[in-house]
Amino acid sequence: MTFLRISTTPIALAALLTIGYIGTTPKKDKRLILSFYVDDTSPGIAGPQAYRTFLEYCKAHGIRGESTVLLGYDGESMAEDPDGVERVFLDYAKRSYEYGIDTHMEIMTHHELFDFESGKKREKGIHEGLWLHEPSVTANEYYRYFSNIIAEGERVGVRFTGLTWPGCGCEACSLRYGELRKAGPLRFNPAVWEALLNLVKQGKFRNRVIPVFYESSETDFDIVQKAADGSFAVYDLMPNAEDHIGTWENTTARVDPGYYISEDGRSGIIIRHLQSRAPYCLWYMHWQGLDPEKGVGWEAFKTVIERIEKHLNDKVVWMRPSDIVIRYHDAGGWEFLESQ
Ligand SMILES: [Zn+2]
Repeated sequence: MTFLRISTTPIALAALLTIGYIGTTPKKDKRLILSFYVDDTSPGIAGPQAYRTFLEYCKAHGIRGESTVLLGYDGESMAEDPDGVERVFLDYAKRSYEYGIDTHMEIMTHHELFDFESGKKREKGIHEGLWLHEPSVTANEYYRYFSNIIAEGERVGVRFTGLTWPGCGCEACSLRYGELRKAGPLRFNPAVWEALLNLVKQGKFRNRVIPVFYESSETDFDIVQKAADGSFAVYDLMPNAEDHIGTWENTTARVDPGYYISEDGRSGIIIRHLQSRAPYCLWYMHWQGLDPEKGVGWEAFKTVIERIEKHLNDKVVWMRPSDIVIRYHDAGGWEFLESQ
C-alpha cells in the first residue's frame, strides 16, 4: 500500500531540470503517456475471476499498466502447492503481460519478512517495506531475498518486471520511519538498487531495464535513474497522480473519477499533466478498491477509461511502466515520444 506521502527531494528536482524537461518546447504531436499500477493484488483479497475481468477489460481497451503479484501475502508461498483458487490466479498472473499488464513484486508478503527455508512468513519482526530502508542490510542480503522471490515466481511461470515499495502505517513502521526521517530524507538503502541491478544484469527480471515505484508527487515528479550499467538499468518511476479509485480502504469516500478527468474532458489531473506537457500521467490504485467483484471503485475506473476514450483518443498513448523505462533508457530521454 503506497499511502505514505513523500515530497520530492531537491536532487529529484535538479535531475528534472538537468534532463531538460522543464523549459523545453515539445513538438506538437507528442502524446501524453498514460499508465498506472495496482498494489496489493492477491487472490486473498478477491477471487481469480475478478483478476481475469480486470485483465480482459484492459486488453479489450488497449490499456496498459502494472499489477502486483504478492506470492506470500497469505503467509505461505502461492508457488508451493497452490490451492484451486491460487492456481487459477497464478495462471492469469503469468500471462498478465500478454494482456498489457506488468507484474511487480511488492515484495513477498507486504508484511513480515518471508522465511524461504521454512516456506512461511515470519510471525514477528520488521516489515518488508521498512527493511528496504534499514542502513545495516547488505546488498547481498537484498540480493538473496529478491532472488528467492524471483525463484518462487519462476516455479509457477510468473516473471517480475519491477518492484513496488510496500508502504505501511503500522505503529512499529511509523516509529522507525520517523527516526530515519530525522537523519535526513527517507530513502531506500542504496544497496537495494545495487542488488536489483545485479539481478537485472543476470536476466532475472523479465526486462533489462526495470521500474521501481518508490517516491511520488503530483507536482515534483520525475523518472530517476538509480543504477545502470550500459543497457541495464533500474529507475524510480514516480507516480504523479494518486488513488481515487477506493484505495486500500475500499471506501466510497475515496472514489472520484473526476479527479482524473471530468465528464466534459476539461479538467482533472490527466488534463493538467497534458496542459503542462508532462511526459506521462501515472497513477496508482489498490486491488481492494479496484476489484471488479467487491471493489467500490471498479465502475469509477471504467468511467475514467470511457472519458479518456471519448476526449483524449489522439492525445495519449498507453504504455506498460516497463516499456516506459526501457524506451526512456534507450533514447536517453523523452525524445522517443515525438515519434509515437
Ligand atoms: Zn508495518
